[in-house]
Amino acid sequence: MTQLSEASAPELRDGVEVFLYPQKEGICPVLFLFLSNRRRLRIECKPAFAALLKELSKPQPLTDSLSHSGLVMDEETEAFLSFLDTEGIVTLSDPLETDLLPVEYVEQYKRQLYFLLDILKSPQKAHEVQKRIFDARITVFGLGAMGSGILQQLSMMGFRRFTLIDYVDVEESDIARTPYRIATQVGIPKTEAAKALVEDFAFEPQVELRNATLRTHTDLDELVRGTSLIVNTTDQPYVGYTNIKLSRYALQHDIPVLAAGGFDAHLASLGELLIPHVTPCADCYATFFHESLKDWKPIPHPVKEREGWFGGLGGLSTFSASTAALDILGYFMNPEDRKAAPGGRGEFLFHDYSLDTFVVERDKECQSCGEGRK
Ligand SMILES: [Zn+2]
Repeated sequence: MTQLSEASAPELRDGVEVFLYPQKEGICPVLFLFLSNRRRLRIECKPAFAALLKELSKPQPLTDSLSHSGLVMDEETEAFLSFLDTEGIVTLSDPLETDLLPVEYVEQYKRQLYFLLDILKSPQKAHEVQKRIFDARITVFGLGAMGSGILQQLSMMGFRRFTLIDYVDVEESDIARTPYRIATQVGIPKTEAAKALVEDFAFEPQVELRNATLRTHTDLDELVRGTSLIVNTTDQPYVGYTNIKLSRYALQHDIPVLAAGGFDAHLASLGELLIPHVTPCADCYATFFHESLKDWKPIPHPVKEREGWFGGLGGLSTFSASTAALDILGYFMNPEDRKAAPGGRGEFLFHDYSLDTFVVERDKECQSCGEGRK
């Protein structure tokens, strides 16, 4: 560890709470609590290291902190300091300082950067993740409750380059489901309202609009050119169909697809992130449900046409949009580490405050992503 020389002045990072318990038989239990993500790390150390932790809360050279704690820079001290450094418990310099991102951008998103720091334990890694977010282009199909909700949250995370696709206009009733400005935007295309939303939240936004719908013959090359991730929230045509079309395309082009939940009758469902050759693809999901339901006998049900006489809450859509946005953030945090991740679905149930979830594995024989493909 060359960074923490005796002339340096490492300080305890104020995002980590340090609890020093009374020593017992020459051993001091210490608890580090990372405030952003509530991670708890317990260690036992000798009393001099507990004293050093107190000294590290003062702005002073390391050599002073060491001498006040009765320590010298030997192998054991180096190992302890190295541990504090790699766990992100001490910082040598301002952890927000970086050449990767504009200064104003870092200032705007510093709370998120501190959060990333707690999880990634390294300012450099946190900046790299934020840089990927800064550069990414996200294509969003469908700009209703889910699409607009995800878009708003992604903008608040620092995403700023979007391609937005929808074909309908803002309606009065969108006031209960979307963050659009209903007073002034009723009747304008949702793409325009969504663009205004991004411009309200994103840093130097770059937005492209397509007033289009997803059909069998839709040329995806033209629509999703240069995209880093596709978000599908369309409810027309049927979401199962559009997910399969997008998933098959994305497999060929190695683009992840967030197949959002939040559709009618499952307003607070979690949706699934489809990462090519890592998670199950949309065809794997279709096969899973086909297999699960193969012994199911259809029961006659008299309602043939739904007139939209069912209700919902903006909060349920927002919940679903939040989980989708967090899933996307997780992907951008470590896209290369996700060698094999199971998929699954989940749904928050308002009436008993529970989360109903199940896991879906990749289908090895899948025609699209498995050994069955031609
Ligand atoms: Zn598959």
